[in-house]
Amino acid sequence: MSGFGFSEEQETLREEVKRFAQKELGPGALERSRMQPAELHEASRDIDRKIVELGWTKINVPEKYGGYPLGHVEIGIIHEEVHKVDPTVEAVGGMEATSALLQTLPQDVQDEWFPPLITRERRHSFGFTESAAGSDAAGIVTKAVRDGDDYIINGEKTPLPGATIASAVSISTKTDPSAGFKGISLFWVPTDLPGVTITPLPWMGNAGLHPSFVTFDDVRIPAKYREGEEGMGFYTVMGTLDWLRIIVALTCLARAQASLTDAMEWSKERKAFGRLIASYQGVSFQIAEHHTMVEAARLLCYRTLWLKDQGKAHTIESSMAKWFSVEVSVQCIKDMMVIIGHPGYSTEHPISMRLRDVLGYQLGDGTPQIQKMIIARLMIGKAVVG
Ligand SMILES: Cc1cc2nc3c(=O)[nH]c(=O)nc-3n(C[C@H](O)[C@H](O)[C@H](O)COP(=O)(O)OP(=O)(O)OC[C@H]3O[C@@H](n4cnc5c(N)ncnc54)[C@H](O)[C@@H]3O)c2cc1C
Repeated sequence: MSGFGFSEEQETLREEVKRFAQKELGPGALERSRMQPAELHEASRDIDRKIVELGWTKINVPEKYGGYPLGHVEIGIIHEEVHKVDPTVEAVGGMEATSALLQTLPQDVQDEWFPPLITRERRHSFGFTESAAGSDAAGIVTKAVRDGDDYIINGEKTPLPGATIASAVSISTKTDPSAGFKGISLFWVPTDLPGVTITPLPWMGNAGLHPSFVTFDDVRIPAKYREGEEGMGFYTVMGTLDWLRIIVALTCLARAQASLTDAMEWSKERKAFGRLIASYQGVSFQIAEHHTMVEAARLLCYRTLWLKDQGKAHTIESSMAKWFSVEVSVQCIKDMMVIIGHPGYSTEHPISMRLRDVLGYQLGDGTPQIQKMIIARLMIGKAVVG
């Protein structure tokens, strides 16, 4: 090993993001954690403006639109530090994935969409899951049928996080229902097209994701909005979103770390049976054990992001990091809530929102079972594992 750990530049970035988060996101974070999506969207406008000013919406976007390259380890650092302070904030988010999909469209579409997406005047989100199929991404039934220079889309996507505030959504459709995953094509669908109906979903957490249900009823869309070749959608989804799982994992670990800090501080103030609760090993060892697990999970995440930055294969690592980190976060936050006692169970305390958020991320970007299936297939062989 020639070196192990973050570079000096990465440590500096972490300090800068930490300072930004504490100064700009700390005030009001608790209030925002209790808001419903629509109210949260309004309350976050000022934060969005600051994020745009920082240039985070231009990360890994084409130079033509003011974009600049940044490593995925660095993107992980930004997300981790922001989400320790305020998990409702979309820091860099899926802008790189949005950019990758948008670049498959003609130049005039790119020129129309890149500038307002970068300034966050417009938003974009991804919809692959539907009532008929979630884990089985190839089992979708939403159809796109060619009609001259257009396609006609019929179907629904649920959940489609972000749709209530999005000006466009990228969705998977079947263009050849008989061809399994080879019959899937992606489309960039402006949400103001006739036939698109968006309804908010009542989720128990993750208000910042703006959970939505979207129906497509005879939506006529010009063929130029097809993302890539017909039938290549499945591969694009898998390739584009692989590393985003790690960002999800790190945002969960950020919530776990914030909960560890809260519980540690509480344990040094709260007394029971005449002693600080931190003096009981039943409390202090729990903190020590969860800290160990969180650090192990962080190492998995950052190694996976590093592999991506080296251009090396990281599919197994990505799936390991996703299921393990979310599980570690769920267990950590749950136990830290118990250390804080009944105040931690109150909606007035951020820990209850963190727990509801990470529970949801067991599903978002693929369930633990699906991650383990990916790992097992690659390790043991698909022919045996199935
Ligand atoms: C916070 C959050 C964010 C999300 N973000 C998005 C998003 O941005 N875009 C989007 O399109 N969707 C999103 N989703 C939806 C998410 O991707 C799906 O919920 C997830 O893929 C699982 O699909 P499903 O809910 O339909 O469950 P199903 O696929 O119906 O699975 C039900 C259960 O069966 C298990 N199962 C299924 N197949 C197997 C198998 N072969 N072996 C073992 N077990 C199996 C699953 O693990 C699960 O426990 C999000 C969901 C949440 C909660």
